[in-house]
Amino acid sequence: MTAISDHARPPLLVALPARPEPLSVEGGGPGALLRTLLRDGPAARTELVARTRLSPAAVSRHTAELIGLGLLRELPPRVSPPRAGRPQVPVAIDPGHHVACGVHIALEHMTFAVVDLLGRVTAQQRLPHPGGPRQVLEEIGRLLPGFLGRHAAGRSVLGLGVVTGGWVDAEQGTVIEHAPLGWRNVPVRRVLGATTRLPVHVDGHARALAHAELLFGAGAGRSDLVQLFVGNVVDAAIAAGGSVLRGRRSGAGDVAHLPLGHIGQACGCGRTGCLQTAVSELAVAERAFDSGTIPAPDFALLLDRARQGHHEALRVLRERLRTVGRAAALLLDVLNPELLVVVERTALTFPELLPDLYEEIAAQSHLCVDPERSVVPSSFGPHVLAVAAGSVVLDAVYRRPMELRTARSA
Ligand SMILES: [Zn+2]
Repeated sequence: MTAISDHARPPLLVALPARPEPLSVEGGGPGALLRTLLRDGPAARTELVARTRLSPAAVSRHTAELIGLGLLRELPPRVSPPRAGRPQVPVAIDPGHHVACGVHIALEHMTFAVVDLLGRVTAQQRLPHPGGPRQVLEEIGRLLPGFLGRHAAGRSVLGLGVVTGGWVDAEQGTVIEHAPLGWRNVPVRRVLGATTRLPVHVDGHARALAHAELLFGAGAGRSDLVQLFVGNVVDAAIAAGGSVLRGRRSGAGDVAHLPLGHIGQACGCGRTGCLQTAVSELAVAERAFDSGTIPAPDFALLLDRARQGHHEALRVLRERLRTVGRAAALLLDVLNPELLVVVERTALTFPELLPDLYEEIAAQSHLCVDPERSVVPSSFGPHVLAVAAGSVVLDAVYRRPMELRTARSA
C-alpha cells in the first residue's frame, strides 16, 4: 500500500504562453470558467469576465452554480482593493469536496488511485491481477469499495476511470483489443457500472494522459500535443485544438505496428519489424534474458543492471530509446505539435540518457529542430498511471461540469 501524503503539484516543465487565449466554450460557460481557473489559478469575477469573454451576469451565475456543486470556493477578500469599491473576492477550484477514482490495468498489475480536482494523486495502490478479463473485473469490483472507504472518506466520488493500453472504445466503454493481455471486446463500463454503481469512464491510457497533460501538466494553456506511451504496449494520442482525436471507434493513435523495429523480430500481428516488438518492456526484457544480460525476463531487472553500470544493459536501453526517438520523429513530422510528451521508463529512471532520444529525433525529423524543448518526459513521474486513470473522470468534469448532478445521483 502506498498512500501519498505529498500533495505537491508536479512542476510545469514548459512555461505557459505569455498571453493565453480564452479557452473554448465546450461544455458552455461553466466548463470554460472552470478550466480557466484551473489554468490560471484563483481569480475575481471581474478578472474572469476578461479572461473568458463571458458576460458579467454569466460569470456571476456560473460561479454561483459551481460553488453550489462544490467545485469552486470563495477565498478571503483581497486585502487592499486596487480601486475604491467592494473588495474583490477571488474564487478557486475547490479540491475538498470531490475526488475521482481511477484504475489502470497493466499486463500483470493494476493501480487503484484517488485523484483530486487539481490532478493530485492523494492515494494509490498497486496490486497484482489474475489476467483474465472476467477475473480482473471481479477483483476490481471486490476490492475497490474497501480502497475508496480508506482513501476517499468524506468526499464524493465523481466517477470511476478505467484505462489500459491497446484499442479502447471510449464511447462504448469497451476494450476492443489488448493483445499482450489477450483481451478482446471486454465490456468494462457495463460490468463495472453494475458492480460499483459509479459512473464509469473507459479510455486508452495514452488518450487519458493527453487529457491530463492539457489539464494539469506540460500541456496546460496549450491546445496541441502528442502523447507517446511506451510500456508493454505502445500507443500514441493526438490533441489538436484542445480536443483529443479519437478516430473511428476510438482507433486513432495505434502506432504499435509502425515498421520502425528490426527486420528479424517477429510480431504477434504476423509481420516483422514492428515498433512494439522492438521497444515493449516485455520483448526487450526477453531478448536481454536470452542473451544472458539478466537472469529472468523482467524489465525491472534490466533497469537494476543499468543502475549498477552494467555496460550491456545500458546499451540495450539506449538502443531502445533511439527506436522510441524514430517513432517520435515520425509523429513530429506528421503532426508538428507544439509538444510531444513521452512516457517511457528509461527516460524516467535515467534522465542522463535523454540525449540519445534527442539526437535520434534531430537526426530523423525534418521539422523538429529543438527536441530538447518540444519533447518532454511525462509531467507525472511515478504517478503517471494513477493520473491517467483519474483524468478520464476529471476531463469529463472539466468539460461538462453541469452534468455532475446527474452523475452523482446515478
Ligand atoms: Zn506488428
